[in-house]
Amino acid sequence: MTAQLIDGTAISARLRAEVATAANELRARGIVPTLAVVLVGDDPASAVYVRAKTKAAREAGVEPRDHKLPANTTQADLMALVQALNADPVVDGILVQMPLPSQLDSEAVIRAIDPGKDVDGLHPTNLGYLAGGKPVFVPCTPKGCMRLLREVHAQVEGARAVVLGRSLLVGKPVAMLLQNANATVTMCHSKTRDLADEVRRADIVVAAIGRPQMVRGDWIKEGAVVLDVGINRTEDGKLVGDVDFAGAAQRARAITPVPKGVGPMTIACLLENTVEAARRRRG
Ligand code: NDP
Repeated sequence: MTAQLIDGTAISARLRAEVATAANELRARGIVPTLAVVLVGDDPASAVYVRAKTKAAREAGVEPRDHKLPANTTQADLMALVQALNADPVVDGILVQMPLPSQLDSEAVIRAIDPGKDVDGLHPTNLGYLAGGKPVFVPCTPKGCMRLLREVHAQVEGARAVVLGRSLLVGKPVAMLLQNANATVTMCHSKTRDLADEVRRADIVVAAIGRPQMVRGDWIKEGAVVLDVGINRTEDGKLVGDVDFAGAAQRARAITPVPKGVGPMTIACLLENTVEAARRRRG
């Protein structure tokens, strides 16, 4: 391997320490940054994520408030909870853990969240600010990607960046952030004619497609920076990214592993957004 390993565990720990400092400054002034976490149903993976977020929040000086609702919760009940959290003066951030049970309309729930408390950055108002180049709350995984690029001193301005995947959660916001940072951005998706050809020209590759090791090592341009957002479980139970790590690491200048690359940044950025929300609302 020749590439620098981008250590998401260490970088996210640093970010969480920064967040803790900011949270403690607010606490010293009587403001306790508070994150409401809403979990509907009993999906085991979601429960694990929520526990991790709650624990990390506490450690960073952010007060978590858990709201657990049964799997058969109605849209009206969930909307009523969101409205109550919007109106609650001590709640700075609202996170509704996705995916929601199938009877619930997640888009309507996201639209109901007060944009000033939308620490996931997925409300159309916040996505609009991002599209306009003046972001307020940025979705957490994309925000984490940009921090990783800064940490490895990636030259973003003027670079050719290729983003694989165009979801609202990852691909689109990453592409907008890169564009705001003056990269020349190409977005690829399932209808892209020649993915390899697009990736071969990229100085920065962000892979967020959810296809195990689909990006081959020999697609990577020598010296590129590669961020692998994908989290895929193989048949033998291992976690792998969207990129063939071993192959890509022979050619890249820097690359994230999976796990312990982009993944740990997401929660850290959620907490950063929550402290930012507290500062904007009450600071
Ligand atoms: P989605 O399923 O919402 O989006 C996947 C995107 O990849 C779509 O735009 C799709 O194209 C595109 N795509 C799918 N197959 C191909 C293909 N063969 N070639 C090119 N493009 C393709 O996924 P998410 O964006 O939510 O997540 C992507 C990955 O990132 C997943 O593995 C997920 O687990 C992981 N993830 C990790 C996070 C973290 O914290 N590290 C956080 C969030 C997600 P089209 O639009 O045409 O369908």
